[in-house]
Amino acid sequence: MTAVLIDGTAVAARIRTQVTADVARLASPPGLATVLVGEDPASAVYVRNKRKRCVEAGMRDVHRHLPGDITQDAALAVIDQLASDSNVTGILVQLPLPPHLDAAALIDRIPAHKDVDGLTEASAGRLALGRPGLRPCTPSGVLALLDESGTELPGVHTVVVGRSDLVGKPMAQLLLQRHATVTVCHSRTRDLAAVCREADVLVVAAGKARLLGSEAVKPGATVIDVGIHRTDSGLCGDVDAAVKDVAGALTPVPGGVGPMTIAMLLRNTVTAAQIR
Ligand code: NAP
Repeated sequence: MTAVLIDGTAVAARIRTQVTADVARLASPPGLATVLVGEDPASAVYVRNKRKRCVEAGMRDVHRHLPGDITQDAALAVIDQLASDSNVTGILVQLPLPPHLDAAALIDRIPAHKDVDGLTEASAGRLALGRPGLRPCTPSGVLALLDESGTELPGVHTVVVGRSDLVGKPMAQLLLQRHATVTVCHSRTRDLAAVCREADVLVVAAGKARLLGSEAVKPGATVIDVGIHRTDSGLCGDVDAAVKDVAGALTPVPGGVGPMTIAMLLRNTVTAAQIR
């Protein structure tokens, strides 16, 4: 079997086109505020791409680049200013933050209705309780890819590898809401490959290059690889490329989940504007 590749680049482009049309229908363009602290080169690239896509979709780009040694109180004051600015629809604090800052406290200062990254306690609580709210972008992007690929979810066994607040936990909650049977694995899971082999849908977000190979995949399963790693031989995911010979459908790295995160961020910003 050779897996059908799920083209995240194409799906993300379609979502951005829809978002651009939705923005044009709004009375005034939504504003997306990105907050970057310090000079981490990878974070700078991520933020630059988010701002570029935001402008392309017709949204207002509001950016705050804060010094790496900013105090917690000064950073909180910036969030408060953005929270009270009526031109700002959504606020995103780029992670990771320098270690002297309390990231959780900074994120939680974002009002839930402007939490376009879906990472505040309030948004996580709403997701866990199945109430309306803004959902984290990467797991929402995974769900959109599963929908686009026509993957059935009700009643099927899905295995999520990873339990981070950013990806694994919200992913499991979103799948549960869609009536999937969900198993969550983590670094202490015994015989990971055997558990993964039970999955009709396998979502891998472990942050370990090529952690899972063909032996961990049920023939015909849908495999979503969230991981992204720069290696000497190029970019790779948490799943070995050889899995394509066993899986029924697979997201490539790059070009799978990666492009979806920004697309879902833009969609969340439009949703935040509509809620307002
Ligand atoms: P994270 O915070 O490091 O969490 C990794 C999770 O995987 C943890 O729950 C950890 O378990 C689990 N894990 C680690 N090693 C494992 C092993 N050997 N077996 C089973 N589970 C293991 O990472 P994250 O933020 O969720 O990100 C995961 C990956 O997705 C990373 O490669 C990241 O770069 C990528 N990512 C991509 C996008 C995108 O837009 N494409 C967005 C976000 C993240 P414990 O909890 O027990 O430690």
